[in-house]
Amino acid sequence: MKTINNFLSYTSTGLYCAAGDFYVDPRKAVNKTLISHAHGDHATPNSGTIYCTPSTKQIMGRRYKNYLRSKFIEINYRESFQLNDVKITFYPAGHMLGSAQIMMEHEGIRYLYTGDFKLQYDHSCEAIEFVETDYLITETTFAHPDHQHPDPQNEIEKLNEITGQNILIGAYSIGKAQRVTKLATAHCSKKRVLIHNEIIRFHEVYEQAGVNLGNWESYRLQEFKAEDNCIYVMPPIWFNRFSKNNKVYKVFATGWKKSFYRSDSLLHISDHADWNDLLKMIEHTKPKYIFTLHGDGTHLKNYFEGKEIDVTILN
Ligand SMILES: [Zn+2]
Ligand SMILES: [Zn+2]
Repeated sequence: MKTINNFLSYTSTGLYCAAGDFYVDPRKAVNKTLISHAHGDHATPNSGTIYCTPSTKQIMGRRYKNYLRSKFIEINYRESFQLNDVKITFYPAGHMLGSAQIMMEHEGIRYLYTGDFKLQYDHSCEAIEFVETDYLITETTFAHPDHQHPDPQNEIEKLNEITGQNILIGAYSIGKAQRVTKLATAHCSKKRVLIHNEIIRFHEVYEQAGVNLGNWESYRLQEFKAEDNCIYVMPPIWFNRFSKNNKVYKVFATGWKKSFYRSDSLLHISDHADWNDLLKMIEHTKPKYIFTLHGDGTHLKNYFEGKEIDVTILN
């Protein structure tokens, strides 16, 4: 089994810390876990005790509704707590509302788990904070020099060139949909921004947390049909149902260069660091050792070959 300095081990369930007897973003329910953010690949429901930010708890509550049996312990950013002799602190990760990087300190050594993160501005969530560390455990979703995310404002403004036709945006309901809403209400001011019912409950969590998503409205079919200047934000499954509808202009919001769904064009907006931002993250956090998770760490490993930072691919 791969370990990070014998402090964290990479098990089939996920990262486990024996000293503190907890997991970090495990794949299945466990006794005790830290959760970085509310996306499904990190926030498995029904662990015994979950330590996470208040917003992550709120979103998980909406998402899993009556299924949640966990005991939640809310952790605010920058407020340290102990599990055995491990000191834990959450810092904003800039990925979505409530997303956290997790700093774990043990025997004078710092271990920073990034969760998913981005450096690009996003006014729908807390901006990332840089913390120096000895060990950096980072996601590598877009860790390839070919990945350079464009400016999100330029991306959303392209939609202003489409006139006389309603626009559908396919976007994941949590995180992406709120970022897109914020961008659209701010930069497509001549258009009405309509939101699918399944997304609204997450918009509400954001707004209760004090994020102003701008002037959006609930979608209503009759109004949509009577108009031709609407932007309608909907979850991917619903977006897919419009694949053969030629009356509307379809864009899918993704950081990938290809959409998994049929669309007329892409709204190239990513909530993960691209290659340059990953390098910047490393520059700011100054680790001596890097461990990679999620995605492919090969390019990062090659990049640091022969340099002072040691890179290990975990997954
Ligand atoms: Zn995520
Ligand atoms: Zn993820």
